[in-house]
Amino acid sequence: MDGPTQSAEVAIVGGGAAGLATAIFFARHAPGRSVVVLDGAAKLGAKILVSGGGRCNVTNRTVSAADFYGGSPNVVKRILAEFSASDTVAFFNKLGVELHEEEHGKLFPNTNDARTVLDALLNEAGRVGVQLLAGHRVTDVSLATDGFAVAAGATTTFARAVVLATGGRSLPKSGSDGFGYQLAQNLGHSLVPVTPALVPLVLDGEFHKPLSGVSHPVELTVHADGAKPVRIRGMLLWTHFGISGPVVLDASRHWHRARVDGRDATVSASFLPDHDPAAIDGVLIALASSSPAVHLRNALARLLPSRVADAVVGKLNIEPSTVMAQLTKDARRLLGHALGQWSLPVRDSRGYKYAEVTAGGIPLDEVDPRTLASRKCPGLYLVGEILDVDGRIGGFNFQWSWSSAWVAAMALARRFNASELQTP
Ligand SMILES: Cc1cc2nc3c(=O)[nH]c(=O)nc-3n(C[C@H](O)[C@H](O)[C@H](O)COP(=O)(O)OP(=O)(O)OC[C@H]3O[C@@H](n4cnc5c(N)ncnc54)[C@H](O)[C@@H]3O)c2cc1C
Repeated sequence: MDGPTQSAEVAIVGGGAAGLATAIFFARHAPGRSVVVLDGAAKLGAKILVSGGGRCNVTNRTVSAADFYGGSPNVVKRILAEFSASDTVAFFNKLGVELHEEEHGKLFPNTNDARTVLDALLNEAGRVGVQLLAGHRVTDVSLATDGFAVAAGATTTFARAVVLATGGRSLPKSGSDGFGYQLAQNLGHSLVPVTPALVPLVLDGEFHKPLSGVSHPVELTVHADGAKPVRIRGMLLWTHFGISGPVVLDASRHWHRARVDGRDATVSASFLPDHDPAAIDGVLIALASSSPAVHLRNALARLLPSRVADAVVGKLNIEPSTVMAQLTKDARRLLGHALGQWSLPVRDSRGYKYAEVTAGGIPLDEVDPRTLASRKCPGLYLVGEILDVDGRIGGFNFQWSWSSAWVAAMALARRFNASELQTP
């Protein structure tokens, strides 16, 4: 160990949402205790800046364990209860970041600029005395006398406690490349296999290509062998490579998780999500009866975007200029079935480069739910996306970062404030 050394009571590896929040909460509640954040990226907070389309969807008005997947819902519930969405709102308000609500309960900064959120966190970290070290990629965390040795390049940081806040593998150019899993595994943890989540899906074939840019409501169903079908409603966006939009991002984790578990998975869409697929034939019968002289393509355009209607009718080889009264029963039934269960030939997702989050990670049962302390390595804590928890779209993933950061920080503060750990 020839390079420079430093020491801190707490070393946090990773300065994203979870790492920064842990540092702030700890420094606020354990005054006089030193905390250093080491991050491999040249600048902190790249992911916060690109989040929510550059506006940062900080949390959601209503957050519950049902909004998350992965490890035990009871543990997630417990951690969310310690630092709720309203605590997040109050925390940011106190930092001068006012939030407003948009559709589906999503909360954004009033400035509509993610920079406001990042600057507030960085300023507060500075105010409470957190040492922020960008450009310090941690390559090893090992046990040392009285704690840990954290190696980042030539610098070694000796710390009594270490928090792993290295995120997952999504958006690797932001610095979250999955190496944190290795650091945790080196210290005795196992890993629930990881997959991209909240990621667009790539389709085989040509059907999607002419529809690129069209967006409309659907209900997606992910059918995986041996599992209950997962149904999700929302907006689908057709793209040159396949499909995106909130409903697709939410469905993507289910497709990936089935595949990683070795199960076949298929995805289908109902283009008329307000109708039960079995009732769509009745909708077409009603259209034929109310508008018998209208061409099929014009009748369908009342139900869904005309480009989608044209593509569906074309694919089924039904003549679009057929008047509704002359649509044969067979053609009508074929069309009704197709509109209710359109098969989407998913080849893959766009991968971690385009994924908003990573599913899988360090198992929740390997941490103490009261403290997020490792059950494998005393003195180690894990927060944020590195854990096997992923949220649906809508601000839930950041809420997991804030809540898990709070639980670990408060546990650390209690530890360091306890008399037996007071330094003489
Ligand atoms: C494009 C995009 C948009 C998103 N939008 C939203 C949104 O609007 N709302 C929402 O709730 N969620 C959103 N998310 C998800 C959310 O950003 C993440 O869930 C959250 O940032 C996870 O926080 P984290 O601190 O656990 O990990 P990260 O934010 O990934 O931070 C991990 C940090 O650790 C550092 N690091 C990793 N390995 C090392 C190492 N070996 N040594 C030192 N440092 C290391 C990285 O450089 C990084 O700074 C979005 C994600 C993406 C990619």
